[in-house]
Amino acid sequence: MSFFKTLFSKPLSLTLSVTSANGFHLRPVAQFCTLAKSFPCSLTASLDDKTVDAKAVNALLSLSLEQGDSFRLSAKGNKADKALEALEACFTALMQNDKEMHSTEKTSHPYLGETIEAAIIFRGVSLAPVHHHTLQERQNKSELTFKEAVDKSMEELESLCLKHKDRENGAIYLAQKELLFSLGSTSATLSEFERKIQMESQKLIGTILDSKRSDYQDILQRTKSHLGFNTEVIFPDVPFILVSEHLLPSDVDTLILTKVAGVILQETALNSHTAILLRAAGICAVICDAVLTQNETIILDANAGVILQNPSQEDVEKALQRQTTEHVQQQLSANNRFQKAYTAGGKPIQVLANVSDLASAQSAKEQGAEGIGLLRSEFLFKSEKPSFLTQKEAYEAIFALFDEITVRTLDVGGDKALPYIALPHEANPFLGVRGIRLLLTHPAILEEQLHALFVAAKNKPIKIMFPMVSSVEEFVNMKRFTQEIAKKYALDISHLRFGIMIEVPSVLFLLEAFNEVVDFYSIGTNDLTQYLFAIERTHPLLKTDELSPVVYAAIEMIMQKASKPVSICGELAANKYALPTLLKLGITTLSVSPSSIAQTKEEIRHA
Ligand code: PEP
Ligand code: MG
Repeated sequence: MSFFKTLFSKPLSLTLSVTSANGFHLRPVAQFCTLAKSFPCSLTASLDDKTVDAKAVNALLSLSLEQGDSFRLSAKGNKADKALEALEACFTALMQNDKEMHSTEKTSHPYLGETIEAAIIFRGVSLAPVHHHTLQERQNKSELTFKEAVDKSMEELESLCLKHKDRENGAIYLAQKELLFSLGSTSATLSEFERKIQMESQKLIGTILDSKRSDYQDILQRTKSHLGFNTEVIFPDVPFILVSEHLLPSDVDTLILTKVAGVILQETALNSHTAILLRAAGICAVICDAVLTQNETIILDANAGVILQNPSQEDVEKALQRQTTEHVQQQLSANNRFQKAYTAGGKPIQVLANVSDLASAQSAKEQGAEGIGLLRSEFLFKSEKPSFLTQKEAYEAIFALFDEITVRTLDVGGDKALPYIALPHEANPFLGVRGIRLLLTHPAILEEQLHALFVAAKNKPIKIMFPMVSSVEEFVNMKRFTQEIAKKYALDISHLRFGIMIEVPSVLFLLEAFNEVVDFYSIGTNDLTQYLFAIERTHPLLKTDELSPVVYAAIEMIMQKASKPVSICGELAANKYALPTLLKLGITTLSVSPSSIAQTKEEIRHA
């Protein structure tokens, strides 16, 4: 479209209806605005006589769109038609995928005393004194300007998004980032930003988005912390039940480290971000606006969804009994975590861990892992390139923990960019230089890593695995490269094993040839699913179904054709719904995250 045509063209518009029972709330709005911002045309949303910028999260939220509301989306200028088409599809998918949060069903309870009803966020029973959440603000010195503090907060939220990208937390951080972009980046000073936060969050009071007000406070607090304002929250050093009006999503990370026995949120909803994170952290929690006194001991029964004040000795004993029963069930899987897992039919299944550094490897050991099935070595390379010595020492420390260890060489490219590796600019990075293909562009980095791995392995039969392999030639060239390195540094690597991740569908059709050259395979279902469906795994809108028969058919094909050991290290390995099929297909080694080990072993025992 020419400049004049664009300037004088009429706006195009369409009507969108909110179908989700949650309304058009922060997370979907953030995803919608991220897409809207990628178009050059102007975009507005109108409800009744109010029209707002459809690229700004806070503006769109201010329409308070609830289920049944219809709003008009208008586009004017360059690519207006394309924008409307894409945003309509995005909106439809967001509405369909926005799961309604049902309150957890309450169990019956045996208490004789008077009970106060509460909505359950996460199950559990606790008995402890009440502690009211109070904040104290202290100002320390800061070198940063307001703008720098906003930028730093944006960076933090960006990296939190990446870190949690496959989980619900990722969407929460994305939503907060968008919110900060539209309110913080458009403010000149902290007080202007505070004013905007105050005004925007006030507009949500009493609307369906009321529970999202804590996200506004959270971005304000994050930015203020970079300006030296630190809010200090002091938690008791003994078990306590936290009662809070304003627990922020980011406070949950701190809370996990305390002796918290339970949480009572006074003003929020089951699908508030704070509630989602409490659930993810496994903290017994409810929503209830009862007036509770500091230090009074209460029973919080989040299985029955009740609170008891001044409990009688009899009720205390009943609560303790219910707590014990619950702990016994949890402990059962935890207690058995060091025991080998056999299926109900008596078949032994090896449960290994996916780790990224020494801390996660130690946690895997503590959780009962039998070894490491996937060391994602790229995490060692995060912000700056580690030296040979740093790498060698890190590998040595991890290798000392287990006998069975598989290390994956640096897997960058696609969704895993590294700031100091200048990859060629590519239109489709997910189909470009990544994983093993780094040998073509950055052989020196791989040489240093392999050298460090060989030295750290000493005489241990470490398995070395290459990511994103798509042809036999790639593997053969890499194997030749390893032999040249071993020769150059006069190292014997005959005890090491070399294998590949199966993540690219072409490998399925080359297995006979691969059988001749590799020592083992590990199926990376995360990327394999992405490439089978041609849907980017980080795509905000399109979602693949990892339980699809297509994925099982691929695994079946691998199991039939592979003559070398096969394990599975994608997220599917920890999916309890997939487990029976994986075992039926002949999988005998699963590699899962440390926190899933005890549970996975327990499920194997019942499979
Ligand atoms: C996979 O692709 O399944 C896998 C385990 O690797 P990552 O998730 O690190 O890409
Ligand atoms: Mg992968």
